[in-house]
Amino acid sequence: MKIGILAEQNDQRVAIVPGIAKKLQELGCKIVLENDAGLQAGFSNDKYEDAEVASRVDVIKNADLLISIEPLSEEELKQAKKDVLTVAEYKPFFDKEVSERLKKIGVRAISMDMIPRTTLAQSMDVLSSMASIAGYKAVLSAALKLPRYFPMMITAAGSIKPAKVLILGAGVAGLQAIATAKRLGAQVEAFDTRSAAKQEVQSLGARFVEVAGAKEDTGAGGYAVEQDEDFIKRQREEVQKRAMNADVIITTAQVRGRKAPILVPKSTVEAMKPGSVIVDLAASTGGNCELTQDRKIIQHKGIWIIGDSNLANEMPEDASTLYANNLLNFLKLIIKEGELNLNFEDEIVNSSFITH
Ligand code: NAD
Repeated sequence: MKIGILAEQNDQRVAIVPGIAKKLQELGCKIVLENDAGLQAGFSNDKYEDAEVASRVDVIKNADLLISIEPLSEEELKQAKKDVLTVAEYKPFFDKEVSERLKKIGVRAISMDMIPRTTLAQSMDVLSSMASIAGYKAVLSAALKLPRYFPMMITAAGSIKPAKVLILGAGVAGLQAIATAKRLGAQVEAFDTRSAAKQEVQSLGARFVEVAGAKEDTGAGGYAVEQDEDFIKRQREEVQKRAMNADVIITTAQVRGRKAPILVPKSTVEAMKPGSVIVDLAASTGGNCELTQDRKIIQHKGIWIIGDSNLANEMPEDASTLYANNLLNFLKLIIKEGELNLNFEDEIVNSSFITH
């Protein structure tokens, strides 16, 4: 079987790094690499030993398994081999018609964001690996913009108080943001609607902010559920109180398949100190801040608002390495002796296929 590795069109990462391409070759597969697919992530063509390098069109036309992070366009998929299997992040929770469209074109598709968030599938969970990088980068992006120090400083020229960082949503990205902000010496507070997050926040040395009455569903696979208007209103009031003293707010609150809740309305932004920074990792699903503009850095009355849900793209080498490791762990489930071997009784395989 020939595996095609494609270059991303709007991302610096690459789905398969050279070390993982080699492991796929050891599994009996042939590799065809789109020219310079790994370059922006730091991996030139020659690092992919024994791989054939070809143009994008030729990779698409000749591979049996096409791997990318961003989905290919429908025009491109129409050029692929009959029965091709494609692996990408199709985000069917947000793009509800994607399976139907792919079925019409006649391709089979695996969506990496559909791998269940279970202990067994942890090593394949690209959402977690990328969210962790985003949480780390969010803190660094905020620190670069902030006109103040993060750590406390006692110098001959005077003393500086530590920055106060407020984190909304303590899932994978939020917890990494807490850990990173603490390492930089900030005082950190965090909030989440899932009670399980409290202990995790506290174990990282941050303060957990409580708002009573959050709805939870243990059957939601660890995900948060949508809150009612009364709760969101009380939560916004609590956030506003803390935002007035915060130097940085990092928002990560998402509810799968829904628009992100607005936790930082315009009035809260305007109550913040000039020079403060908001990093909104929920930007692509509407944003947790009312003023967020997706993929843009804006300033509102002296407050910076960074809207970016894809900060893993800013650390492409390690992001690609982790992504590729996740992919290999998954591909080992469906490749035997260089050919596809699909077992739909397996929960991970079954959940990840969005058309077959
Ligand atoms: P996510 O990106 O969907 O959401 C980020 C966080 O925002 C979550 O913690 C969520 O509870 C929180 N949130 C949602 N609405 C909120 C609101 N109104 N106010 C405050 N916070 C709000 O979540 P995620 O980071 O992908 O992780 C979700 C859960 O899945 C976590 O419990 C995580 O530990 C779990 N998980 C488990 C595994 C595994 O077992 N393999 C892997 C990954 C994640």
